[in-house]
Amino acid sequence: MKNQHLFSNRVAILATMHQKQQAIAPILEPELGIKILVPTDFNTDIFGTFTREIERPGTQIAAAKLKATKALELTGEKLAIASEGSFAPHPYIPYIYSNREIVILLDIENDLELIGEELSLETNFSHQVAENIQQAYDFAIKVGFPEHGLVISYQQIVKDSSEIIKGITTEEKLIEAWNWAMNNSPDGKVYLETDMRALYNPTRMKNIAKATYNLLSKIKHHCPQCNIPGFDITQRITGLPCAICGMPTSLVHSVIYQCQKCSYSQEKLFPNGKEFADPSQCMYCNP
Ligand SMILES: [Zn+2]
Ligand SMILES: [Zn+2]
Repeated sequence: MKNQHLFSNRVAILATMHQKQQAIAPILEPELGIKILVPTDFNTDIFGTFTREIERPGTQIAAAKLKATKALELTGEKLAIASEGSFAPHPYIPYIYSNREIVILLDIENDLELIGEELSLETNFSHQVAENIQQAYDFAIKVGFPEHGLVISYQQIVKDSSEIIKGITTEEKLIEAWNWAMNNSPDGKVYLETDMRALYNPTRMKNIAKATYNLLSKIKHHCPQCNIPGFDITQRITGLPCAICGMPTSLVHSVIYQCQKCSYSQEKLFPNGKEFADPSQCMYCNP
């Protein structure tokens, strides 16, 4: 397999200032034979912060790609890794937050871009308005403090970093930040939120690791024609027939794998291992 060792013995630049190498390097280094390096002077905050004083440019994937590209420009290397997380109400489950993590591998030597993904309900993403320190403590306990960091501000909308204290991981710092916020608060309210930066959030770090495993599985899936990694699903076709009446349902009938290099594609029927849909999914048998 001529492309088996496409990445081996290469240096990959990881665009992070939040210790994401803790999650990513132990997975990718031994499997791909790469050496992951983190630039010492790379400020990823210019690509957006969770605390909103700097907006993220474009989509989550665009932001990760931009970080990876900038890391390559900065170092002159050819292989980069970047990750980007987002927190939003779960697409299907009401009142529940989800964490979507993506990890991108960008190889400009081979013109390849591979993306791993994890959508998880495991997140402590949360915020709280508090008027006394007991409420702040209650929130802290609920979100897994002190293993998980906190963020405090004296106003809801934060315009620059002088109005916010991040990375609170000790009770002493929490009391200090509380006093600072209360003294500055115009209405006696203090705004607490979870620190979602990877190094202050072990739950998020685990999701980054899961997205990295997903990336690895895509890297290991080679194109049957040109053997380049990343032979991946690009399309899902619905219409799995109902087991009773045979009418097409909204369940997936087949998926299309496509190579991003040579455009070779392959259709795989019944990706979920079933040739017929349960009649409960049929709009004729179970309207
Ligand atoms: Zn191919
Ligand atoms: Zn039916």
